[in-house]
Amino acid sequence: MANETESKCQAICSVLHNNANWAKDVQEKNPEYFEKLAAGQSPKILWIGCSDSRMAVDVLTQTNPGDIFIHRNIANRIPNEDLNSLSVIEYAVKHLKVKHVIIAGHTNCGGIAAAMGTESVGILDHWLRPIKDLYLANEEEINALPKKDRANRLSELNIVQGVRTVSKLPVVHEAWKNDQELYVHGWILQLHNGLLKDLNVSVAGIKDVDELYRLHPAKH
Ligand SMILES: [Zn+2]
Ligand SMILES: [Zn+2]
Repeated sequence: MANETESKCQAICSVLHNNANWAKDVQEKNPEYFEKLAAGQSPKILWIGCSDSRMAVDVLTQTNPGDIFIHRNIANRIPNEDLNSLSVIEYAVKHLKVKHVIIAGHTNCGGIAAAMGTESVGILDHWLRPIKDLYLANEEEINALPKKDRANRLSELNIVQGVRTVSKLPVVHEAWKNDQELYVHGWILQLHNGLLKDLNVSVAGIKDVDELYRLHPAKH
């Protein structure tokens, strides 16, 4: 029993211990650091990524607290009716006035793999269903690839769809209308080498959005 408690403590206590060391270290090097941090944030980037523990945003981008506003969920989805991600995007674009929105997926994504299979994963079945639809819509292209590359291609297509979804949002159109500089990018984190690959699908303004999605106030 004592051993069990001890080993549990080693796993979780080290997190608190490391945190205390970090805070002490930062404070010693820069006594005003936390005072400034607490005063407010003005990040230039909104990152919408996967919840996967390997997508350690601050570490892999070598950024600091205050640099990146972050939203993460399984398989970096941005459903049109999801209050959570839409709230994050609206706050980041309208109030924080970020310049870049990055939709970041990654290779070897468990969510994508689950969406390509037929094994039930509980409530996640609902969350991942649109990725299944995306797979079926692009089945020919994906299945023409070697087996090992198929899930990663679906990850890419899911990122591209995320970029398109964000670039259709009213809050994004409003920002562009107000001449706010705002770019939406699609990147994939390659876990085998740690590198982020730009999928070159960036959207820079309303001209990049299909006319059907450029809405105007109703005329009466
Ligand atoms: Zn908060
Ligand atoms: Zn993932």
